[in-house]
Amino acid sequence: MSIEMEVHTSTAHEVLRTYEPQVLVFDKPDEVDRHAAGMFIEQVLTLPTSVLTLPTGRTPEGMYRYIRNAQKRGLRLDEVNVFNLDEYWPLPKKHPASYASYMDRNLVGVPPDRRHIPNSEAPDPHLEAARYENELNRFPVNLAILGIGPGRTCHIGFNERGSDLNSRTRCVRLDPETVKANARDFPYLLHMPLNAITQGVGNILQAKAIILLAKGNNKAIGISEMLRGDIGPDSPASYLRMHPNVTVILDGEAASLL
Ligand code: PGA
Repeated sequence: MSIEMEVHTSTAHEVLRTYEPQVLVFDKPDEVDRHAAGMFIEQVLTLPTSVLTLPTGRTPEGMYRYIRNAQKRGLRLDEVNVFNLDEYWPLPKKHPASYASYMDRNLVGVPPDRRHIPNSEAPDPHLEAARYENELNRFPVNLAILGIGPGRTCHIGFNERGSDLNSRTRCVRLDPETVKANARDFPYLLHMPLNAITQGVGNILQAKAIILLAKGNNKAIGISEMLRGDIGPDSPASYLRMHPNVTVILDGEAASLL
């Protein structure tokens, strides 16, 4: 169902078309993982050359595990192209908390020239963001899988509060709440970058279909604001309500405020 709604962007209030995402709630986090992996696998079986935008973080680790299990049973990923949503900057690529390292650990079987991720070692993050934007624009994305930021950040990729509907790939400063949550991955806090390169909201919304995954109590406020609050920069995930094909997959805790 679609409705007209007033949407606040950084420049104007505009009346734009909005949609109701499909919301699936599962009792257990593992069921979220299994269902998300099932949708990924279906996409790749339907179109082996699919272009996928993919997330990092704790939430999708279970999904990647199910995908690796499917690969042991014959699923092939050698024709897909995968684009990461975001990457810290600056950070050595080999640092265990870099998203390049995360993808090495979590997603196997995609040829190196088909894996796309911002370069966390690039000397100039703005030039690197422009390069990534150009690369992304060469590949229409079939499916984007996203997480949502902790607490009230409501970020998608690293589009933190204040991000514009039409934002593109760029270098951003991380929200203090994001820094606090992600510090768990940096034993030496001084090594944690405070900046990142992220696909913009505008890039994400260009995908043909979008899945957002959330598990745990720390996502409940963000999910409620995303689905029930105003659409606008105070809750970047709320912009997903402007896309006609969004599936939100939640466990009971993440859905507890709906
Ligand atoms: P998480 O991160 O899955 O580790 O909670 C999600 C995000 O920050 O988008």
